[in-house]
Amino acid sequence: MLDIDRSAPVMVTGATGYVAGWIVKALLDAGLTVHAPVRDPAKTEKTAHLTALAEDAPGEIHFFKADLLDPGSYGEAMQGCSVVFHTASPFTINVKDAQRDLIDPAVKGTRNVLEEANRTDTVRRVVLTSSCAAIYTDAIDCAKAPGGVLTEELWNDTASLEYQPYSYSKTLAEREAWNIAADQDRWDLVVINPSLVLGPAVNDLPTSESFRIIKMLGDGSMKPGAPKLGLGVVDVRDLAEAHLAAAFTPEAEGRHIVSAHATNTFEIAKALQDRFGGSYPIPKRPLPKWLFWLVAPTAGVERVFVARNVNIPWRADNSKGLRALGLSYRPLKETVEDMFGQMADRGIFTKS
Ligand code: NAP
Repeated sequence: MLDIDRSAPVMVTGATGYVAGWIVKALLDAGLTVHAPVRDPAKTEKTAHLTALAEDAPGEIHFFKADLLDPGSYGEAMQGCSVVFHTASPFTINVKDAQRDLIDPAVKGTRNVLEEANRTDTVRRVVLTSSCAAIYTDAIDCAKAPGGVLTEELWNDTASLEYQPYSYSKTLAEREAWNIAADQDRWDLVVINPSLVLGPAVNDLPTSESFRIIKMLGDGSMKPGAPKLGLGVVDVRDLAEAHLAAAFTPEAEGRHIVSAHATNTFEIAKALQDRFGGSYPIPKRPLPKWLFWLVAPTAGVERVFVARNVNIPWRADNSKGLRALGLSYRPLKETVEDMFGQMADRGIFTKS
């Protein structure tokens, strides 16, 4: 059981997002007061689910207006807060201008939020939602890692503005956070590095890239077969617990790989077969690598990505998170069934 000081409010950036929704829920359920800076508090369709969660919980939520790209805009929301959870960062793969759409909000946004922590005397800890993407770009990077396993010691040195710019944005943003944290000693930085996050959403209209991947498994676009694209998966509810443990475990420090399952996209499809295979066109067989390589450009996927990820096992050492944050993970089947079931109820897929 975590020892949580409930007297001071905590701030969560990106509260309207998929990952943060569950963090906010866990904080409200623990009786905390949550300050939620959002881009437009007047857009109640983006915040109504959070207000509803607060109505059913012992905690409270207050909304403020702020933008990652607007320096100083997090000041009011951070007033009096002991902990800052910085989750806001665009998670999208297809962008027109990677510098404008990914790198700037990730890096300038991190600087904006952490410099505000420097100006806010009450802040003692910042929990940053980084990513395994700040550790590696492609599954093949695992093979190059010592012992073939990703660890918290490693930094992504293969992503760039041109290749996998989302991973590049997360790498630059986390580096920026460590630099800012090192220049002061009032607050400490604890970083969570999740692998691909799956599981149901508390928000009605999730835009996170996580949903696009599951959508493709259920909407028929992968019916001929799912490539065995090596990746790690963690449940969004377990990830929220990891954030709370990072905030309220006094001795927590450094980076934490938060990933439950070393798997691939075909295994995810297989985990959905029992419950949904009869009603939806979920792929039943793996797509051969050569075939995916051939059709990749028509699907908007770079061939080099296929070469570096398909049929290549993903391996990471998640032991620090288990040990230092006391985490436990639910089974993959439960995670993907709960997510797919929620999406099916919301009419995302057409039955086969
Ligand atoms: P999401 O649902 O798209 O959430 C992103 C959040 O960032 C939204 O609340 C969004 O606000 C906010 N945001 C974006 N640009 C902003 C700006 N300029 N100013 C203020 N807020 C802005 O994505 P997610 O999957 O929950 O991702 C949340 C965090 O987890 C990100 O840091 C991501 O890199 C990290 N992560 C995600 C995964 C995953 O598989 N989902 C894996 C590893 C790490 P609006 O609602 O206003 O757009």
